[in-house]
Amino acid sequence: MVSIIVPCYNEQEALPLFYKEASAVLQTLEGGYEMVFVNDGSSDRTLEILRDLAGQDEHVLYLSFSRNFGKESAMYAGFCNVHGDYVAVMDADLQHPPALLPEMLNILESGEYDSVAARRTSRTGESPVRSWFSRKFYKIINKISDADLVDGVTDFRLMKRSMVEAIVAMDEYNRFSKGIFGWIGFRTYFLPYENVERVAGTTKWNFWKLFKYAVDGIVNFSQVPLSLASWFGIFMTFFAFVMIVFIVVRKLLFGDPVAGWASLICVIIFVGGIQLFCLGIIGQYIAKIYMETKGRPHYILAESNIQNVRPVR
Ligand code: UDP
Ligand code: MG
Repeated sequence: MVSIIVPCYNEQEALPLFYKEASAVLQTLEGGYEMVFVNDGSSDRTLEILRDLAGQDEHVLYLSFSRNFGKESAMYAGFCNVHGDYVAVMDADLQHPPALLPEMLNILESGEYDSVAARRTSRTGESPVRSWFSRKFYKIINKISDADLVDGVTDFRLMKRSMVEAIVAMDEYNRFSKGIFGWIGFRTYFLPYENVERVAGTTKWNFWKLFKYAVDGIVNFSQVPLSLASWFGIFMTFFAFVMIVFIVVRKLLFGDPVAGWASLICVIIFVGGIQLFCLGIIGQYIAKIYMETKGRPHYILAESNIQNVRPVR
C-alpha cells in the first residue's frame, strides 16, 4: 500500500486540484493507497474541503491541528499516522507532480533503494539572490554536518516503511526534515524533474523565513559554529599576545609618548563585537536546548477521521 502525506496550510484553491490529480495517479497503482492530509491550522476553507473529500472518498484521511504549527510538525504528524508500506510527502500545490509516483514506486520495488527523492534540475521562477543563498547554504551545511544534503532535493520522496520508522523515532522538537532524511542514511535514488510553479494560492515562505530556516538547519545538525567560537577566542588570544610583546618592546626602545587612543577604541569595539557574536552562537544552541527540554508536543490535534491516532509524544 502507498500512503501520501500532504501538509496543507491555507490551500483552499489548490486542494481540489491536487486531490483530483493525485487520486487519478494513485488509482493506477496496485495494492491500494491512502492520502493523509494534515490541516496545519488553516484560516480558510481547507478543513471544510477536507471533511467533504473524506465524506466522499474513503482513501482520504485527515488530521487537523488546533493552530498553525508549521510544515515540519505537519509532516511529523503524517509520518506518525500513516499505514502504507511506501510513504511519500507531497506539497498540496502540485509542485510535486503526482505523475512521478509510479516511476518512484518502480525504483523502490526493484529493491536496490530504500527511498527515491525528487530533485529539481532547474530553479525557474526563483530570484537569483534566493538561488545564490540556497546554493551557499547547501555547501556550508554539507561541510559542517553529517546530514548529507543534496542541492535541489525537495521534501518530495517516496520511502519504505523502515525509513518512516526511523523518522518517527527521531522525535526531536526542533525538526529540520531535509537534515533528518539525510542523517538517517539508507540508500536514496535521486530522480531529476523540472521545477513547476504552484497551481493556485500563494507561497508561505519569504526570504527572511527561509533564511531563518537555513540557520535552524545548521544549528540543528552541526556543532561547528560552537567550535568556531573557541577558534575565534584562541586566535584573539594569540593576537593579543603578539600585540603585548610589540607594545612592550616599543615602550622599552622608544619611550612612551601618549598616543594610541584611536587604535585602542578600535580594538575594544572589535573584541566586543566578536564576544557578542560568539555569545549569540551559544544563545542559539541554548534556545534549542530550552525548547527541547520543555518536551512540549509537536502539535495539538483538534480533529481527525483516523481511528486510533497515535498519541503525540
Ligand atoms: N505548509 C504547511 N504549514 C506551513 C507552511 C506551509 O503545512 O506553515 C504546507 C503548504 O500548504 C504546502 C507545503 O507546506 O503544501 C509547501 O508550502 P509552500 O508551497 O508555501 O512552500 P514553497 O513550495 O513555496 O517552498
Ligand atoms: Mg510550493
